[in-house]
Amino acid sequence: VESPIAQDVNPAQILRNVRPKLLIDGDFVDAASGKTFPVLDPRTEDVIAQVAEADAADVDRAVGAARRAFDSGPWRKMSGRQRGRVLSRLADLVEERAEEFARIETLDNGKPLAMSREGDIPFVVSHFRYYAGWADKISGKTLQTNGNTFAYTLHEAVGVVGQIIPWNFPLPMLAFKVAPALACGCTVVLKVAEQTPLSALLFGELALEAGVPPGVFNILPGYGPTAGAALVAHPGVDKISFTGSTEVGREIMRGAADGIKHVSLELGGKSAAIVCPGVDMESVVEDTHVALFLNQGQACCAASRTYVHESLYDEFVERAVERAQRATVGDPFGDVQLGPLVDSAQFEKVLGYMREGEAQGAVIGCGGSRVGSKGYYVEPTVFSDVRDEMSIAKEEIFGPVQSIMKWSSVEEVLDRANANPYGLAAGVWTKDLDLANRLSRGLRAGTVWINCYNAFDHAVPFGGYKMSGFGRDLGEYALSNYMEVKAVVTPLKDPAW
Ligand code: ADP
Repeated sequence: VESPIAQDVNPAQILRNVRPKLLIDGDFVDAASGKTFPVLDPRTEDVIAQVAEADAADVDRAVGAARRAFDSGPWRKMSGRQRGRVLSRLADLVEERAEEFARIETLDNGKPLAMSREGDIPFVVSHFRYYAGWADKISGKTLQTNGNTFAYTLHEAVGVVGQIIPWNFPLPMLAFKVAPALACGCTVVLKVAEQTPLSALLFGELALEAGVPPGVFNILPGYGPTAGAALVAHPGVDKISFTGSTEVGREIMRGAADGIKHVSLELGGKSAAIVCPGVDMESVVEDTHVALFLNQGQACCAASRTYVHESLYDEFVERAVERAQRATVGDPFGDVQLGPLVDSAQFEKVLGYMREGEAQGAVIGCGGSRVGSKGYYVEPTVFSDVRDEMSIAKEEIFGPVQSIMKWSSVEEVLDRANANPYGLAAGVWTKDLDLANRLSRGLRAGTVWINCYNAFDHAVPFGGYKMSGFGRDLGEYALSNYMEVKAVVTPLKDPAW
């Protein structure tokens, strides 16, 4: 474990091009209330920006702009091909400034710079390129009827979309939501997470530069119960798309009920990693380590229940502990595997689970404490002899805490994996094809990764079963979140023809 002491990084320099305001109707503006809120550096707990704080009045302005841009503006009337060109120009502009974006993201979120550089920002660029390609390939169907009618469907943009995103992958979450919505011809009001509003603001500036017309893409930094709830309730919004906790997902469904708004939700998870007999121990220890510790464990699909077959269990635990002890924690601008957690609430919550795991009788192999005395750094932590009824095995921790359980029969591990109310993702490690097929069919989860984990691709849908939500981000499937289907029917004068 390295010293978490911050290196010589200059936040003001990194943020020199970020305008800490609301983006409404093509302009960067103050909140109607004039209020701002502080954004902290998770490495040092220092305030690095004061950002305009949106509330109901600003939501109203932004939705009004998005409504006008949808109902009479140029976006929906542009051809898909034209919209695609704008989105691909936007991808180019982000790519040209990839290093600046990577630094902003690491400063704001605390994730290692290498991850921002090699993971998050390139993903955002290619994601916008991928959906730029879809913009002119959205078509309905011609339908075979009883012969007396000619019928077809139009896939039309759903309208004004309110999108609410979390802080764990600030710019990729923006991309998950915004790229398909814009490709479909929707207009967007995006409520970014209060912890991490900064990269989106620079992104918004580039969207204007790329030719996204005013009002088509609006950005509101602000808090959930105020700005977020007002967006969900606003009558001018046709659809709400949300990524975040299951608790807030429930609030959002309630808030959207009066207006019968379309809703899609990507919520929490407690994903199982199932390690079967006969696998290569070294590579599986590494895979399951990364599957949990990536992004300091702050991922909705983190493999936070590691089920290991009894024949491998003792050796696996020993090696998993050894691997976690080797993980470096420190300033995310340095060469480390784990940076700080995002904020004090997250820090307290994760430390609380570490204490609970010990109190409930799990065996702590390593970790369990804070690192240093400043910033939200915690030790990578491994628990073994974890029982399914312990809170660390049941609840979403969203931190670097690995819980290792033992299994003996396939039926049993499948039942235990499915017993949790979440159903976002799962991982299976095996060389037995029949077993891989059996588990991938049997697991009630939106994604099953076999002999890999977190293998995201723009083309592959991602979303939950059960309490992990509904609707799919990514791929062609995500387009259906942002489309209405209209049936058009005309009589045929000469049915025989
Ligand atoms: P996390 O636990 O990852 O912080 P949350 O579900 O608390 O996830 O937050 C995700 C997003 O939802 C954030 O942008 C947050 O501001 C927003 N949010 C929180 N509460 C509400 C609410 N009541 N209505 C709408 N949005 C909310």
